[in-house]
Amino acid sequence: MTRSGQEYLASLRDGREIWLDGERVGDVTTHPAFRNTAASVARLYDLAHDSEHTPVLTRGGVHRAFAVPRSYEDLVSRREAYKVWAEASFGFLGRTPDCMAGGAAGFAAMPSLFTTEAYDGSAAALAYHRRLAEGDLYPAFTLTNPQIDRTRSASRQEEDDLVVRVVAEKDGGIVVRGAKMMGTAAAFADEVIVGTIEPLAPEDVEHAVCFSVPVGTPGLRLVSRTSYEARARSVFDNPLSSRFDENDALLVCDDVFVPWERVLVYRHVEASFRMWWRTPAYLNFVHQSATRFWTKLEFLTGLAILITKANNTYELPPVTQAIGRLLGRVAQAKAFVLAAEASYEEVDGGRGGVAPGKDISFAQRIMAGELYPQALQEIKLLAGGGVIQLPASGRDLLHPELGPLVRRYIRSPGTPAEDRVKLLKLAWDALGSEFAGRHEQYERFYHGAPHVYLTQQAWEGEGPACEALAQSCLDGYDLGGVR
Ligand SMILES: Cc1cc2nc3c(=O)[nH]c(=O)nc-3n(C[C@H](O)[C@H](O)[C@H](O)COP(=O)(O)OP(=O)(O)OC[C@H]3O[C@@H](n4cnc5c(N)ncnc54)[C@H](O)[C@@H]3O)c2cc1C
Repeated sequence: MTRSGQEYLASLRDGREIWLDGERVGDVTTHPAFRNTAASVARLYDLAHDSEHTPVLTRGGVHRAFAVPRSYEDLVSRREAYKVWAEASFGFLGRTPDCMAGGAAGFAAMPSLFTTEAYDGSAAALAYHRRLAEGDLYPAFTLTNPQIDRTRSASRQEEDDLVVRVVAEKDGGIVVRGAKMMGTAAAFADEVIVGTIEPLAPEDVEHAVCFSVPVGTPGLRLVSRTSYEARARSVFDNPLSSRFDENDALLVCDDVFVPWERVLVYRHVEASFRMWWRTPAYLNFVHQSATRFWTKLEFLTGLAILITKANNTYELPPVTQAIGRLLGRVAQAKAFVLAAEASYEEVDGGRGGVAPGKDISFAQRIMAGELYPQALQEIKLLAGGGVIQLPASGRDLLHPELGPLVRRYIRSPGTPAEDRVKLLKLAWDALGSEFAGRHEQYERFYHGAPHVYLTQQAWEGEGPACEALAQSCLDGYDLGGVR
């Protein structure tokens, strides 16, 4: 059954080991680097638990993202649920609980893929999905090996144990050691699944493991990046980074014990890869993130309209056209979601499940990674210097001497200073702050690096059909007509 926000927050007080800026964080629900974002996530849980949105977000008391879709209509309902949560953070919380929930539903659609000659993880895969759905748990995932040396495989790095690997088998489970590069929102999650989404080399057998453990597991450490929430002056001054900083952390396993029932893949290079790509797990990730991306673009375009209206430039033909281009991009982002649903595919051997269409889902990553930086540039161009020439904080507006000065000079026809400063501070948080820079990098890389997904599109996209069409044109004539 769904949890309330309060129940979710209580679950985070589990002694988890999170490090930030040279200090161990005691409680993420009260720490100034995490507490507002934890409250934002709690609000998502409240929306699902008991609000006007509950019927859209849940079915039978379970969040819709956990359901294995069986039809086109199921995909649509799941997307409607994704959209409600995406709008709650204006698209700035990327790895909300529904993201990996969709991944777990993907595993549950094809548990047989977890059975190998080395180990049978099918029961653990189903148990993972059941545990998350029944407990309404927040799953994060760390699937990328630390960069260290990208020219060497996981087992050929300059030292052992740089990348998570199995170091021992013990009664009832395994012991793992090493790191994974990036756990977005792991600090706010109940469990983290550790695996590898990119192909491992044949020699990386010890690294070919996938398991999910509670974030509070002894020996599991999260080393957080800079907190934008901690740096925020106030919600008025940094409206997004103060509330939606999901954080990204290096995950370190320091001899973590993992019971067998939590091990999905064990010492099997191919299974550690196919669990993401041959089940609908990855397609389900894209469905969630494409919906969120569409929402984020709607939000940014809305900001562009508000800024140009406040600056009284909205009616100028080049500005109107720029807004038209942005709205075209919003429609493009939406079209990818709708088209992926409409081109749904039956999950091969997947017990009646369906998944969003692969070709369009994969292409969405290319579109979004390229479009996001362009959209930011276009909106910055429309905004001009106003987003920089702002009082250092809202305190200036409240100051008896300074307030009237700011109100006089930072305004526009029909937009009083307080509204204008509020709008432009929101815009800069979204477009140009350090938080915004992280989001640009996120949209470019969270689904993998371009050299990976472009190559994948070339291998698995509709190249043969395109080639055949061009060839059919060539086949329709020859030298016969030459005079
Ligand atoms: C903000 C953010 C949040 C993220 N959150 C998560 C998360 O929650 N969970 C998770 O598992 N991952 C997460 N990721 C990691 C993401 O999956 C990786 O960034 C992505 O897989 C790319 O890997 P990389 O960053 O190590 O880049 P690399 O693989 O190191 O690539 C970086 C660049 O190096 C070059 N390059 C490297 N190798 C090659 C090659 N073989 N051929 C050609 N060029 C090459 C390319 O120019 C490439 O663009 C996140 C990333 C970001 C930026």
